[in-house]
Amino acid sequence: MTYISLARKWRPTCFSDVIGQDHIIRLLQGAIRKGKLAHAFLFSGTRGLGKTTVARLLAKIICCENSHKQEPCNVCTQCFTISSGHSSDVLEIDGASNNSIDDIRNLKEFVRHHPINGRHKVIIIDEVQMLSNSAFNGLLKLIEEPPLHVKFIFATTDIEKIPVTIVSRCQKYDFKKISCKDMVVKLQEVAIKERIPIKEKGLYLIALTSDGSMRDALSLLDQVGTISHVEITEKHIVELIGLAEQSNIDKVVDAILYGHSRCVIQEFNKLCVQGKDEKRILDALIERLRNILLQAISGSFPEMSNFNPEYIEFIRTRAFLFSQEDLQRILFLGYFFLNQIKRNENFTLLIELALIKMTKRPKVIEKNAIEAKIRTLVNLSKCRKERLNEHKKWIILFDKIYSAIPSIAYYLTMGTYDAFGNIWISNKSFYFRLKVLFAMNLFKSQCLKYHGFFPILFLEN
Ligand SMILES: [Zn+2]
Repeated sequence: MTYISLARKWRPTCFSDVIGQDHIIRLLQGAIRKGKLAHAFLFSGTRGLGKTTVARLLAKIICCENSHKQEPCNVCTQCFTISSGHSSDVLEIDGASNNSIDDIRNLKEFVRHHPINGRHKVIIIDEVQMLSNSAFNGLLKLIEEPPLHVKFIFATTDIEKIPVTIVSRCQKYDFKKISCKDMVVKLQEVAIKERIPIKEKGLYLIALTSDGSMRDALSLLDQVGTISHVEITEKHIVELIGLAEQSNIDKVVDAILYGHSRCVIQEFNKLCVQGKDEKRILDALIERLRNILLQAISGSFPEMSNFNPEYIEFIRTRAFLFSQEDLQRILFLGYFFLNQIKRNENFTLLIELALIKMTKRPKVIEKNAIEAKIRTLVNLSKCRKERLNEHKKWIILFDKIYSAIPSIAYYLTMGTYDAFGNIWISNKSFYFRLKVLFAMNLFKSQCLKYHGFFPILFLEN
């Protein structure tokens, strides 16, 4: 007998089985009840949140022969053929491997004919952001004047990459990360029915590691289920999935916060030698730093009650000991490198670099950097005297800003300055961050006080 993975076996067969997306289910069921379903839907959110599952369920309801209810009946021919993937009225394609204009032509051919069995035809395109430009243009024509019998359901992990012209013609549904609590309830149900002897604490660990994705959580449960001859503990899970144990990762966090670059590399290497996955280490690290920052800002952090007392104590003391500015800067670096790592093969080196950079405090280096930049600018200047005054103004302003709002000063070092009071930033993400910070009254008042006017921010192409 072929083995069916837990994620597949426990895939919801009706809306009431879908967890963590109540806001979406409620809206969809409301539209079904009123008979006001849109002709194109766009489901967005990270992987493993249930977008494809909900898309298939919606397709079933649209085509179901007993569709007077707000759930598929799961017994009629339509429901049955859709479940088995053999429906002639529902076409599901993966945008990543069917992204050309020819594939869109096939879609046109599909919608041209009326449904064979039911009243509607449904096209589901997964990872729709992967379509080529010409394919998007073809698709746009199709959804601009859709035949009445056709519904489109698009799913994407990256809505930013979809042309606005497409997005604006769809009803948008944003899938949320599933909360730890909801996941544990589901995992518990599955564990009992599958006879996997695992304690609640272990399930929490799985839920936490899965970062809101039910599919990942079920895959992990599948994995730990293979050692089912004993009662599964947190330690088993940590050994199996390579999650960094709390005490070890805490040492790395402390090394960063206290600024020990040698220590941070030593502790990181120890974790690697133990066979922990490097990316998971960085993930766990960022999660802790984020919780410390949130604790410092608001006095609590997400899912706080699910953590053990030692963890909470660790977060609380660090939130008390370190400044929010430092935490923000370190966390920002962490996120920045995490994104880089996704695009690089040699990520061990990148993680080491990230860790070292996170231990550094910006004060001296960054200040020198901006001074050097301004000096170069002044040297290049033809009307030297005029520029020198500008130079002094910038230095004074930078000094004042640094003591008032260090994070702005940090981003400012990334810019190029001209004598007209403009700041040019080439990094898009720094630009948008600065824009937000520029809107702060504190920054405005400092500028007016020490610079005489308010600098204008430009994005350098
Ligand atoms: Zn049915």
